[in-house]
Amino acid sequence: MREPRFDILFEPVRIGPVRTRNRFFQVPHCNGMGHVHPTAHAVMRGVKAEGGWAVVCTEEVEIHHSTDVAPYIEGRIWDDADVPMHARLVEMVHEHGALAGIELVHSGMVAPNLYVRRPPLGPANLPVSGTHPVQARAMDAGDIADLRRWHRQAVARSLSAGYDLVYVYAAHGLSTVQHFLSRRYNDRDDAYGGSLENRARLLREILEDTLDEVDGRAAVACRICVDELIGDNGVGRSEIEQVLSLVGELPDLWDFMVGEWDFDSITSRFADEGAQEQYVRGLKQLTSKPVVGVGRFTSPDTMVRMVQDGVLDLVGAARPSIADPFLPRKIEEGRWEDIRECIGCNICVTGDPLMTPIRCTQNPSMGEEWRRGWHPEQMRPRTADATVLVVGAGPAGLEAAMSLGRRGYDVVLAEATDVLGGRVSREARLPGLAAWIRVVDYRAGQLAKLPNVEVARGSRLDAAEVLGYDFDHVAIATGSRWRADGVGRWHTHPLALDGVELLTPDHLLTRTRPAGGRVVIYDDDHYYMGGVLAELLASEGREVTIVTPEPRVSEWTVNTMEQHRIQRKLLELGVTVIASHALASAEGGAVRAACAFTGRERELACDALVLVTARLPEDGLAAGLRDHPSVSVIGDAWSPGTIAAAVWDGRRYAEELGEPPTDDDEPPFHREVVALAPREAQRPASPAALS
Ligand code: ADP
Ligand code: SF4
Repeated sequence: MREPRFDILFEPVRIGPVRTRNRFFQVPHCNGMGHVHPTAHAVMRGVKAEGGWAVVCTEEVEIHHSTDVAPYIEGRIWDDADVPMHARLVEMVHEHGALAGIELVHSGMVAPNLYVRRPPLGPANLPVSGTHPVQARAMDAGDIADLRRWHRQAVARSLSAGYDLVYVYAAHGLSTVQHFLSRRYNDRDDAYGGSLENRARLLREILEDTLDEVDGRAAVACRICVDELIGDNGVGRSEIEQVLSLVGELPDLWDFMVGEWDFDSITSRFADEGAQEQYVRGLKQLTSKPVVGVGRFTSPDTMVRMVQDGVLDLVGAARPSIADPFLPRKIEEGRWEDIRECIGCNICVTGDPLMTPIRCTQNPSMGEEWRRGWHPEQMRPRTADATVLVVGAGPAGLEAAMSLGRRGYDVVLAEATDVLGGRVSREARLPGLAAWIRVVDYRAGQLAKLPNVEVARGSRLDAAEVLGYDFDHVAIATGSRWRADGVGRWHTHPLALDGVELLTPDHLLTRTRPAGGRVVIYDDDHYYMGGVLAELLASEGREVTIVTPEPRVSEWTVNTMEQHRIQRKLLELGVTVIASHALASAEGGAVRAACAFTGRERELACDALVLVTARLPEDGLAAGLRDHPSVSVIGDAWSPGTIAAAVWDGRRYAEELGEPPTDDDEPPFHREVVALAPREAQRPASPAALS
């Protein structure tokens, strides 16, 4: 039974013509599936509805072929051909009693239109965002009339697909409507430029068009950026208050967000739960309409406070709904300690820039709901009795043991140390990464509830012991170690490294520190580790230089939307950044780094060199178990990767155990193959047509 203090979260909210079943609202979020993997997308959204969310939305959906954010994979509703995939999504969401929402977008200054090959449209003649050699064309009165008509048509198609809620989108810096609203892009001197009233004209017109088109058959939401965080050049508090005085009563729901996506979905390394509150607080009082907003909310108490304090009416979530699609149901059933809390790592976000289906560190079933038939809460019962030994309680071993336990197997999880969590228990001690311990906490909590799983701490096993125990199956999840020889991406053979103290992340993670004060970190890994170790050592007072062959530190974190924050932090801490340089050698109290372009070397005097390069699997135990009939190596011990990959592999092992083995010649998952057009649809340029 749920606790009475959470009752308020289960009150219905009226949004224009519709009523929610509770206050849990999955706001629109990208997923790398969109119009390319529509069935996978529809089923994923359906699972959120099953988990109790009252409203489940799409990602941004392009309204017309004049706006194309390719190669990013978002939704499309360009014409009637796109409607069936939306109807499927709506069907999945309705099947579980939730309302379905669609976020319509015209991407203006951020759509390079690489696929459709026509000039993007925006308020001004300006280059589109990014580095594409593409400029948007300033819209004239005819273009504005076209845009309004296209938006209306997309609304009509959304209704025919069955959506209950239609978004007018003016947020994240991603929509034409916002580009008109903001002085950042709007330099017009017509009725759509200059005063705020003029800049808000397009927003008003599109809201009115949308309300007129839906005609009470669906609710109209408006997602708006309440502070662009760019000072006087953009919309800030005073302007958003004026916007609300102009159009505050038009939509049925306001969805308030702050900054661009990198602030809206800021990582836990740089902000805590509810970071947006200070910007949103007080705005709800300027409209009679309900308000939704986000804040990586995973604590039901924080959610209650948001509602009771009059900040929000609906608890918005993207990442918490990804990490735990069943979050509302768990609170409702009084099982809030079972919530799989988002760790704020933004691995989910990477699906968008990397144009691949969404994945999640905490929820390995995310993106696999249809493809592999994985469910966030349920697992197929085992088909036969068997005992399983899982060796190593890092993320892979923990997930495997928990998932095997859920399938009903008798499991022993043996961990060499007294601490569960492997690399996560150590990495969560690094600056800003404390929330990552939730990967361990959730699984440790669940394991404690599984009587068929025994956890043996302080149990370092060797091959003879494993063979002696006579388990039917053994999963080796013994992790990996960082290399100490310079081998990584740049150098694929060991370097001669002498004359300075050599350390790897493993040393620093186990609290070893360099003896001297001057440290060079060589980062040829490019994810978070090099940057976070630089932060650690600099904040402890060491003189730190970070050398990387990439042009920026922690280059891969552009995909988690943190790179700019990491580099700023290091520069503010006084770390010297030497980019586009590779480690060449170390001797006599110095390392030499070579320019990635010219090869020209420079010498860096230092006491210690920290190598953040590549890892080697700790798979020695498996070698001694060749005589065992069923041994699998999983997680980092099989192939070092992300924590998300280790968790996923633990789940995969548990899913596949006892199932008919596949020969790997066929894909072990469903996929959607693009339908081939009939021959008649081909239009070759015929000689007659050319003459
Ligand atoms: P992964 O990311 O693949 O889960 P980790 O490196 O995080 O890997 O975790 C591996 C875990 O395995 C660590 O907690 C480590 O202490 C444990 N371990 C390593 N070797 C053994 C062993 N021989 N017996 C039991 N536990 C082991
Ligand atoms: Fe949260 Fe990380 Fe999962 Fe994204 S990938 S939902 S940030 S745990």
